[in-house]
Amino acid sequence: MGTDSLNTFRISIEDYYRSNKRSLPWRREVPVPYEVWLSEIILQQTRVAQGTPYWVKILKAFPTIEALANAEEDKLMSLWTGLGYYNRARNLQKGAKQVVADFGGELPSTYEGLLTITGIGPYTAAAIASICFNQKVGVVDGNVYRVLSRFFGISTPINQTAGIKEFQILANEIIKSSSDPASYNQGIMEFGALHCTPKKPLCMMCDLADICSAFNDGKVDQLPVKVKKGKRTAEEIHYAVVQTKDGIALRKRGTDGIWAGLYEPPRLSEAPENGKEVTSTIVHKLSHKDLKCHFWDVPKEMLNEPTTYYTKDEAAELGMPIIIAKLVENIKM
Ligand code: SF4
Repeated sequence: MGTDSLNTFRISIEDYYRSNKRSLPWRREVPVPYEVWLSEIILQQTRVAQGTPYWVKILKAFPTIEALANAEEDKLMSLWTGLGYYNRARNLQKGAKQVVADFGGELPSTYEGLLTITGIGPYTAAAIASICFNQKVGVVDGNVYRVLSRFFGISTPINQTAGIKEFQILANEIIKSSSDPASYNQGIMEFGALHCTPKKPLCMMCDLADICSAFNDGKVDQLPVKVKKGKRTAEEIHYAVVQTKDGIALRKRGTDGIWAGLYEPPRLSEAPENGKEVTSTIVHKLSHKDLKCHFWDVPKEMLNEPTTYYTKDEAAELGMPIIIAKLVENIKM
């Protein structure tokens, strides 16, 4: 790729950002690294409209990295309920503890330093380093793969090592000559999210259309290329919904696996004979499998381990997978 085409692309993306950037609470005149970090972690798997209220309430509850480091895990998880991918919250807190212990409560100001913090990978490190510390490291996420692969006509699969490497090198090459890396990185993410979208990109209104490879070759809907993964699997989960005058039975899950550290009703190894379901089966989709959750009305005596009972108010303070939070909210006690 010639330097001219890289520069034209970069300048166009920076202009796009200056004209179209959304006003978001963490986009301050002088960005606060903790706020940007929190926004980047929340927005990894979540859309801006859904994630922003979570950003507001988590920041209100824990206004500093130190407050987040010292937060009760259950409190953090309850504020995270509904966002999914709970490991993000756990790693965020681990990272906060590390920042307090090793960096005096301030995030490191270099890409390499940021990468040493738990939960901060290359994407988040590049975002924080460029937005807060003016460093020239290109961000690469789903939006960026799409825009770069289309504009430069790259068909290397984006979910294989060679592609991951190739796109990161290209992103770094583009940002190298920028005097405003924060605008370039935020611009390409914004451009991918709002303009060069997965379906129905706005090619007819695109300033880059004349020189966009995919547009000129009629390949917009073929890029980026992703190698198909194996078939999705399904797992049946049987919950015992047990209520007493003290509330609903809930247990905290262990530290490993899906929903680690969250609260849910006790699990049964199989469906009870002649069991009655308190609500229809709920299918919860994870990235690689479907969880088919059944909720059985069973008597207290069926629980063979000690169990704690929670009122609705008490349960509202606990971290729970969203489907369990909804069950507890809707159940009559
Ligand atoms: S012309 Fe279409 S595919 Fe190319 S960058 Fe613009 S929106 Fe994306």
